[in-house]
Amino acid sequence: MCGVTTSDAPLDLPLDLPGYQHVYSGKVRDLYAPLDAQGDVDPDRLLLVASNRLSAYDWMVTPEIPGKGEVLTRLSLWWFDQLSDLVPNHVISRDVPAAVAGRGVLVRRLTMLKVEAIARAYLTGGGLEEYNAKGSVSGVALPEGLVDGSRLPDPVFTPTTKAPFGEHDLPMTLAEVEAELGAEVAAEVSRLTRAILVRGNEIASRRGILIADTKVEFGLAPDGSGGLVLADEVLTPDSSRFWPADQWEPGHAQPSYDKQFVRDWLTSPESGWDRGSGEPPPPLPEHVVEQTRAKYIEAYERLTGESF
Ligand code: ATP
Ligand code: MG
Repeated sequence: MCGVTTSDAPLDLPLDLPGYQHVYSGKVRDLYAPLDAQGDVDPDRLLLVASNRLSAYDWMVTPEIPGKGEVLTRLSLWWFDQLSDLVPNHVISRDVPAAVAGRGVLVRRLTMLKVEAIARAYLTGGGLEEYNAKGSVSGVALPEGLVDGSRLPDPVFTPTTKAPFGEHDLPMTLAEVEAELGAEVAAEVSRLTRAILVRGNEIASRRGILIADTKVEFGLAPDGSGGLVLADEVLTPDSSRFWPADQWEPGHAQPSYDKQFVRDWLTSPESGWDRGSGEPPPPLPEHVVEQTRAKYIEAYERLTGESF
């Protein structure tokens, strides 16, 4: 496993957590293995810590967004509970070292499937591009006349590869997912991913939010026993597009609670950044950091009904 340790990544890792050993860092989360009294790694559990890092357009953006890691962790925990009758999840305990309180969770250490499980309920982004080119998304034929923001007749499973950091995830056909996972597991990943998005929208719509699309990750017990386990994060503003329902208007880009706000600033004249240049993006100004933080917190508060 390789970590995200390019010179552009604002990482100050690993954290010094007595009793834990750093094993991996993704773009946003850091993984630590608990150590036993002999100093041996616990093979069954991981401490999963969400940082305040933000990635956009395959770059680590500076500075970090204060509170973001805690929003993602608390929101995922809340959703795992809302989804627990649909799918088992990896959470073992919220009892974690004080240094990572609120952003750390003790989880089952799983063998992660090498597929990003994405489902779309509304058409935008990469799904819209594919529809405009082919009239279908991930092999699913769609009605004519759909536009940016259109609601799909049914959620569509649109899996991608899990590309290494700095490379784009690529669309996978169902046949490719079946070749990777076997037909039975592939069908179950598709069914569960769509079911999570449907349940998510049932709950979110009562709170004024539409979930346009989302990405989840599943794992299996290392010995292959048991079924699919929902891992990583779920239905957060990092993994999903959240739209305010009262402003939904198909035909153009929708306002959102997610990091689209950061993407829009990065590609605006104000940032002065040329996305195609290969140069890292400039640091976010204070007002963009502050508004991004506010959007993440608002999404959390609206969905859960709890104050952050
Ligand atoms: P990548 O891993 O490709 O960098 P990412 O940047 O989205 O993807 P993060 O969310 O930052 O990843 O890091 C979390 C990492 O931990 C992911 O690789 C994810 O697959 C892995 N992970 C999450 N939950 C578990 C689990 N229960 N067991 C093992 N690995 C897990
Ligand atoms: Mg992730």
